[in-house]
Amino acid sequence: MEARELGKHYEVRRLFRPAATVKAVDGVSFVVRRGGTLAVVGESGCGKSTLARLLMRIEPPSFGEIRLGGAVVGTADKPAGEAVDASSYRRRVQMIFQDPYSSLNPRKTARSIIAEPLVVNSGLSKCEREDRVLEILDKVGLRPDAADRYPHMFSGGQRQRIGIARALMLRPELLICDEPVSALDISIQAQVLNLLMDLQDEFGLSYVFISHDLGVVRHIADDVMVMYLGKVMEYGPREPIFSAPKHPYTQLLLSSTPGVAGGPKGGPPAGRSTGELPSPLNPPPGCPFQKRCPSAMDACARVMPSPRSVDGRQVACHLYPEA
Ligand code: SF4
Repeated sequence: MEARELGKHYEVRRLFRPAATVKAVDGVSFVVRRGGTLAVVGESGCGKSTLARLLMRIEPPSFGEIRLGGAVVGTADKPAGEAVDASSYRRRVQMIFQDPYSSLNPRKTARSIIAEPLVVNSGLSKCEREDRVLEILDKVGLRPDAADRYPHMFSGGQRQRIGIARALMLRPELLICDEPVSALDISIQAQVLNLLMDLQDEFGLSYVFISHDLGVVRHIADDVMVMYLGKVMEYGPREPIFSAPKHPYTQLLLSSTPGVAGGPKGGPPAGRSTGELPSPLNPPPGCPFQKRCPSAMDACARVMPSPRSVDGRQVACHLYPEA
């Protein structure tokens, strides 16, 4: 999958004040390699969930395009309903949701939940669907008798396994995983992450893994994209970003995550970063991180830094020279 300058802007009407534009996702570009995992990280409000909805084509982008296997699948000119090969996109790209309980219909058995994508999107007989359900239950580590149980009869980790089984039923190439373990206990998180990695090896799956938890991301990502107020701050391979983050915002995220190595090694001094995420309705001019950045300078308040290549990754920051 490839995103090129993808964006989603919303017009927001306000009482007694002029309408404002929220740039939820603003010119985001990335590539997810076949069989690889791109982690999208940032605080809540940074645009991760909007990006997930764009990638799932739940909403059309305001601009930019998404490509799958080289083919354009959604552009500002061709909204979701009209895009080329929309039904094939739905089969090839599936989603795993954050809350494994609310995303499963409580009135349906696991069998019915897992088989549902096949009922809608395949011509398989009931018998063939049953075989596929039992096969996939085994793949996600659930026993065959789980098929007859209802969601409330499972633990949180088991429910997420059902969500994963459902997402795999159409044999997709890519899964959008929206905070898939953040609602689970720490001990269960590791089991579900290991399951996702095993399934990736077995089926050659690609993942877009959305998370606010850098400890989790370090476990699973090949590439990391750090977002702030809808923009990409740093993007590149996992290890250099974790061992020597270059963007002051990545440094802040890493330094505030317990148990994760990283920090200002190899980059500018992080110093102390203060404040909270500004309102997306009223972002600062220039660099969106300037109000919290310990290294901010005059240019930061005037000019949004373009991405520049620094030690094998892209960094949007005036501290580094443009090529
Ligand atoms: Fe800080 Fe300026 Fe870099 Fe933004 S561009 S992160 S304000 S130094």
